[in-house]
Amino acid sequence: MRYVSTRDTSKHELSYAEALLAGLAPDGGLYVPISYPELSRSELAALAKAPYTDIAFAVKQKFIGGDIPDEALRALIVDAYSPESFQPITAGTVVPLSRIDDDLYIEELSLGPTAAFKDVAMQLLGREMDFVLRKRGEHLTILGATSGDTGSAAEAAFKGLECVSLIMLSPAKGMSAFQKAQMGNLSGGNVTNVSVRGTFDDCQDLVKLLKREQEFAHLGAVNSINWGRISAQIPYYLSGYLQAARTIGDPVDMCVPSGNFGNVLSGYIARAMGVPIRRLVVATNENSVLDTLIRTGTYTQTKTQTTSSPSMDISKASNYERLAYDLFGRDAARLAAYMREFESTGTVAFASHCLPSDTLLAVGFRSGASTHADRLRSIKETYERAGRLIDTHTADAMTVALREKEVGVPMLVMSTALPVKFEDSIRQALGFVPPRPARFANVESYPDDAFSEIEVDADALRSIVRAADPR
Ligand SMILES: *Cc1c(COP(=O)(O)O)cnc(C)c1O
Repeated sequence: MRYVSTRDTSKHELSYAEALLAGLAPDGGLYVPISYPELSRSELAALAKAPYTDIAFAVKQKFIGGDIPDEALRALIVDAYSPESFQPITAGTVVPLSRIDDDLYIEELSLGPTAAFKDVAMQLLGREMDFVLRKRGEHLTILGATSGDTGSAAEAAFKGLECVSLIMLSPAKGMSAFQKAQMGNLSGGNVTNVSVRGTFDDCQDLVKLLKREQEFAHLGAVNSINWGRISAQIPYYLSGYLQAARTIGDPVDMCVPSGNFGNVLSGYIARAMGVPIRRLVVATNENSVLDTLIRTGTYTQTKTQTTSSPSMDISKASNYERLAYDLFGRDAARLAAYMREFESTGTVAFASHCLPSDTLLAVGFRSGASTHADRLRSIKETYERAGRLIDTHTADAMTVALREKEVGVPMLVMSTALPVKFEDSIRQALGFVPPRPARFANVESYPDDAFSEIEVDADALRSIVRAADPR
């Protein structure tokens, strides 16, 4: 399998390993496979009762194309999705489905070490990167910024790996105490936490500034545009489908709480590969850029609002570019013109690029937005109806799923975090805090020196990176 940048008209090809270690393409595009591999009906049927590790292997093998030998890949997958990391694994899957009501299900993606769906991809990504780097005799230092779940999921996955180090910037204020504590507990060894006395945007600007400098240009990235992450999310769409469908071939709808469009993009690719998903329902919070895009065909960047589903607080959905590339018939020149208009003016419409306004509806996307009040109501109703506690992000999806649900077609709501991460909102909705899984019992006690504190100061960051990067 070979990869190209969405904006490269010369179609220079990369291997999986190269795409895995690269961030953004030099032309500003994202790497995509030259075509989507197929999952035949007989392959789907053969996987119907298979454990999650077999499903993940069947999917990932098609994208890796020999860059990681089969036997090694299988071992990485089995290690990534071990019962020690994903708790509790039920019925052989790390992403169990539970029934809420007739044809309404929750697929739990958050049983990993940091209780967010990002663990599923990150646990495998870290191991794949380490494997590929070891084979090349290389070491990679990754510099990233986080406003919440990405940081802890990456640190939990990369902790202790030999060929990768991680330096993660986070804002001194803004993250939940739980999220900050999760990172604090992972500091040390190959993981460096830097607390910046500024906002998330300040953190991101510092990362971008350093990476433009020759001395730091080699630093790696783990944000959701990484192809290794996108491809590691496809298996749970297949697993969800196989758990929900009565007969292989029956249609199933899926609803995904979305921010950067990484998660739902993997669902779209699963469908392109042959998983019989009928509708992909994109749920947003008050930051409804994607909802507007899907309903009207106009993509407009807005000012980000802070909400009670903070991991969906985005104003620009980076991974949407990969879908848009397909919508423009994989024509890099048309895609680049469309994206350039968005980047320079902050808005772009399909209509001015020769595509119908309802293009996304026509390819099976649906969408909706919800508010803080909707989330609280959804948390309460889901608890009263099914005894099931959901977090605020899953509540956004539940709200929209119930609006879009059709009788007779199973609807899967993707659960992207455990409620323990958002105790305040759960207390507001229900009057009590969710019980803590044992592994998070003492999460708030972490060493005082877990975070290096700096001002928004590039020189201070340069010194930290020089000290942490063995190069
Ligand atoms: C990251 C995250 C999302 C958004 O996922 P995208 O891939 O950015 O669309 C939703 N919910 C939770 C809990 C997250 O951590």
